[in-house]
Amino acid sequence: MEDTYKGIPVSPGVTIGRVFVLDDVRTRIPRRVVGEHSTERETGRLRDALEASQLELTEICAQAEKELGMEAAKIFAFHQGMLADKHLTEPMFKRIEGERVAAEYAVQEQFRVLADMFASKGDSAFRTKVDDVWDLERRVLKHLIGEHVMGIARLTEAAVVVARDLTPSQAAGLPRDKVLGFVTETGGPTSHTAIFARALGIPAVVGAEGVSDGIEEGDLLVLDGDTGAVIADPSDETIEQYRGYIREEEAYALSLEDLADLPSETKDGVRVKLLGNIEFPEEADVVVRNGGDGIGLYRTEYLWLTSDHEPTEEEQYEAFSDCVHRSNGLSVTLRTYDLGADKYTQERALNPERNPFLGCRSIRYCLQNLGMFKRHLRAILRASAHGPVKIMFPLITNVMELRQARMVLLDVMEDLSEDGLAYDKDVEVGMMVETPAAAIMATSYARETAFFSIGTNDLVQYVLAVDRTNERVASLYSPAHPAVLRMIKDVVRAGRRREVPVSICGEVAGETLYTMLLMGLGLRSLSVTPSRIPYLKRVVRSVDIGSCERLARTACSFDSERQVTAYLRDQARKIIPDVVGGRSAESDWF
Ligand code: PEP
Ligand code: MG
Repeated sequence: MEDTYKGIPVSPGVTIGRVFVLDDVRTRIPRRVVGEHSTERETGRLRDALEASQLELTEICAQAEKELGMEAAKIFAFHQGMLADKHLTEPMFKRIEGERVAAEYAVQEQFRVLADMFASKGDSAFRTKVDDVWDLERRVLKHLIGEHVMGIARLTEAAVVVARDLTPSQAAGLPRDKVLGFVTETGGPTSHTAIFARALGIPAVVGAEGVSDGIEEGDLLVLDGDTGAVIADPSDETIEQYRGYIREEEAYALSLEDLADLPSETKDGVRVKLLGNIEFPEEADVVVRNGGDGIGLYRTEYLWLTSDHEPTEEEQYEAFSDCVHRSNGLSVTLRTYDLGADKYTQERALNPERNPFLGCRSIRYCLQNLGMFKRHLRAILRASAHGPVKIMFPLITNVMELRQARMVLLDVMEDLSEDGLAYDKDVEVGMMVETPAAAIMATSYARETAFFSIGTNDLVQYVLAVDRTNERVASLYSPAHPAVLRMIKDVVRAGRRREVPVSICGEVAGETLYTMLLMGLGLRSLSVTPSRIPYLKRVVRSVDIGSCERLARTACSFDSERQVTAYLRDQARKIIPDVVGGRSAESDWF
């Protein structure tokens, strides 16, 4: 009897395989008291285990850097930093000596203290750290008592990994050739698991409630990273249906390869730029390979999120210039740090906010931390000496922020000139439109910005008052809401009137169902997950602007998002049936 679970699709594709359950239930280690003369032996064991863990982390770090890039490797550098911290390890030794307990018990107790400290803060930022703490504990215990071998070692045949949660170490330590996909019960689209899955290019679903209890090792599983469906013990019919999808998808992806060298333009010759949204510099390669027009959004804060410290100017400069080099002369839009809210910083973590999405996030955080902001801008500007770079400020809600940010930028430019360091003096400076305030006032902002990029991920949550990370209100989160469509239309118009280019970089831009609508609303530049570029190019090349405009006019005449999405599905089936296929058009994620 098949069981279907629904989660959040965070990495596309479909896979069918046997389940490998990564058991994350932590075994409780009993308190074992040792003889008076054995404490020295226990401290020795602890010292060896700590050293072995550090050594192992150094190797994993180097491997992650090679395979996934520097930012991914920094997660493990963070673990190394924790392990090197005497505040964590000294109490372990003291406990052995004072309480005469076995090393593994001392380790378990001290990690628990650290995890409790993070958990007690109650901020989502800390939950990520708690995962890191358990991950590190597991590693040290493995070196102490062998049987705590990380479950993944048992993974010897290709399988779909199912876990309550997947820590960064586990995700990055998965043998690539053996993992067909991930399913986790916790997490959201911005979790580490999602980042790794996308970087690895395998399907993944997170937030699938009940999977870790309901699914057993060895079960056959269908994992649909496009719709978020997870089907255990699928019927023969379901398997056949999904095999059909996989065959179709493979054939379709193959047919798209030829598009890389063709221009992204409509049948009637209108050019629509397709750019990539990236978190790590290495992803620029995919944009280039897929024939993209550049990087429309580089989420620079991921440098910070995968590090235990503020990235130094040099570290930032290295990552940004690496991205510029990889982009082969295509333009790279570096968005300044969008920290805060669900993207934590060390500083903020000590003082959690009650309402972080309405708090000191993004440009507000940067303007309140000028030293850090200046180091960041220096690195960005220095990278601009290596190729075409644009700078974009996020979460602008009033014109003073934009002016202040520009003034800081000018200051930094002066400093660089004084220091004799090269940078592009004519670097373009634009802003994201991701708050209702910015969208409504776009005409006046247009006088002060070189370009707009509409960030629907945030715009939708602020317009509709729906937290984008809360699965309980996920059904209310829709970019098809008439209020959102009207805002997009108005921003595009404001840009046109003032000759300010407008791009869109929210997730909706990568949904083929919405492509004609967005083009019909006047958008000529879409920035999307790099792997989506060929799919969008196919849509662009299959339609003419007249029909997109007609479609947009009708879509904007409805007063509910349901009507809009039903209409988009209907039109997609009629106008671009080979592109969206029955399946994507049925996807109810957006
Ligand atoms: C957005 O808000 O639409 C956006 C692209 O930025 P992020 O998803 O990083 O907030
Ligand atoms: Mg945003």
